[in-house]
Formats: sequence, C-alpha cells, structure tokens
Amino acid sequence: MYIFDYQRPVDKAGAMLAMQGDARYLAGGQSLVQAMKLRLSACERLVDLGGLDELRGISVHEGFVTIGAMTTHATVARSQDVLQAVPAIAELAGGIGDRMVRNMGTLGGSLANADPAACYPAAVLGLGAKIQTDRRVIDGDTFFTGLYETALEAGELITSVSFAIPLRAAYIKYKQPASRFALVGVFVSQGAGGVRVAITGAKNSVFRCSEMEAKLNTSFTSEAARSVKISTDNINGDMHGSADYRAEMISVMSARAVEAIRAR
Ligand SMILES: Cc1cc2nc3c(=O)[nH]c(=O)nc-3n(C[C@H](O)[C@H](O)[C@H](O)COP(=O)(O)OP(=O)(O)OC[C@H]3O[C@@H](n4cnc5c(N)ncnc54)[C@H](O)[C@@H]3O)c2cc1C
Repeated sequence: MYIFDYQRPVDKAGAMLAMQGDARYLAGGQSLVQAMKLRLSACERLVDLGGLDELRGISVHEGFVTIGAMTTHATVARSQDVLQAVPAIAELAGGIGDRMVRNMGTLGGSLANADPAACYPAAVLGLGAKIQTDRRVIDGDTFFTGLYETALEAGELITSVSFAIPLRAAYIKYKQPASRFALVGVFVSQGAGGVRVAITGAKNSVFRCSEMEAKLNTSFTSEAARSVKISTDNINGDMHGSADYRAEMISVMSARAVEAIRAR
C-alpha cells in the first residue's frame, strides 16, 4: 500500500470539501482497500464516508424503494421494508459474498465500483433504478458505461438509489464458487412497462438482454426463457466458464428466475 492522507468528514458538505486533488471516497473498503493493499490502486487521499449518517437508510414512497448509498448489504437483506416491497433486492443483497462483505460492503460502493460480476448492477437495470448523486439524478440504464466504468464524474458522490417497485421480480445467480460473485446472474422483473431482464457476470459490464425481454413479453414461462438462444458475441470466456457456457447459462438462469417469479 502506498502512503495516503485520510479524512473522515461528518456531513456531505465536509466530504465535498475534502475531495481535493487525487482523492477517492471510501465506503466499506471491500474493493478499494484490497486493491490499494495490492498496489493495483492508489490515491493521495481517502475520504471516508462512514461518518455521513445522511447516506444511510431505507424508505418506501410513491412506487420506489430508496436506499442510501452507505447502507450495507446486510441491512438491505434484513430490511422488512425491502422484503415487503421488492423481496428480490433483499435476496440479492443476502447472497453477496460472505458475512463480512455484507456487513461492510455498501450499495453506493458496489455501483461506483461497477465490477462486471457484481449483483446490484443487475437490480439497477432490471428495475429501472435512478441514481441520486450530490449533483443530479442518473438514469440507471445509462449509469454503467464499461468495465469498472460509470457515468460518475470526478468527485461525484452517490447519495441514494431509488428502485422502481415492480409487480414481481427475482434475481438468480450462478455463483463463482470461490468469490461468490456472479458467474452469470439474471435479474428479471415484470412491471407496468413490461418485462426487464438484466444480466451480470457475462460481459464486460452489466446489460439488458433485449431478445429475452421480447420473448418473455410474449410468453412469461420458463420454457420460453429456455428457448432463447443467446449469441456468444462479446460474452466473456475464461478458466471458470467459456463464452458458450455463459451464453447457455443466461437462458438457464432466466428460466429459473421466471420460475421463481411465478412461484411468488
Ligand atoms: C470476498 C468478496 C466477495 C464479494 N462477493 C460479491 C458478490 O457476490 N456480489 C457482489 O455484488 N459483490 C461482491 N463483492 C463486492 C462487495 O459487494 C462490495 O460492496 C463492493 O466491493 C464495494 O465495496 P464497498 O461498498 O466497501 O466500497 P469501497 O471498496 O469502499 O469503494 C469501492 C469504489 O466505490 C467508490 N465509492 C464508494 N462509495 C461511493 C459513493 N457513495 N459515491 C461514489 N463513489 C463511491 C470508491 O471510491 C471506490 O472507487 C465481494 C467482495 C469481496 C471482497
């Protein structure tokens, strides 16, 4: 780890003030600190968001579940409000990593990090979420721009995320056995605007699967999902699974998500 300066502001204004020069926000450190320890990442200052209580909390209002950026995965997983409004989000959060990761890792950190195999990005696209920052609202569909890349500007702070409450939804992931990240994860929702299907783990960035959405809008059955042949174009292949395997898994996981939704 390289030497850095550490600041722990107690409000948003203090955080903005501390973000000078080569500075980065620190949430639970579950990605950033590990990268810094390995010297894969470095900055001159860390601005710890742990003192900003205003970034924590969950509310349900006018068709949206709004979750503060510093809310941990463990808090989301056991929130009665989330379990009632969109159980798929609570289940997703409860399936992230291990107990320590869930107790420390945060929604805002997960989205800003934009890991191609992370779970929350699938919920953002799968539900049509809105990302509130210190300066604007970003449409979830335009938030993820590439491998570990987002629409956030330098120093921009995610403050909360509002997920549209669907009629029904489910998130199913096939876990990479060592890390528990998604080898392939599929978030399916049925809402007023039709079916949304978001895939994580299979490409350089989370994406909506238009051919699966078209099929499920016609016939919302697991057989229909299973019948969709996914092209291997731009699908990841590595030692954990070939592109052919991951493409096949998209249909299989989508079918399981539809089954889970129909069983709700
Ligand atoms: C062993 C292990 C297993 C894991 N398994 C999974 C899994 O199965 N599924 C999954 O989805 N994730 C998984 N994760 C990742 C985990 O979900 C963390 O939430 C994620 O790494 C982000 O961590 P963090 O919230 O502590 O953010 P940090 O590591 O503190 O920060 C990550 C990045 O986000 C930036 N940032 C943080 N907060 C904000 C904010 N509010 N606004 C703007 N930028 C911000 C930081 O500057 C940094 O660049 C795993 C991690 C580990 C270590």
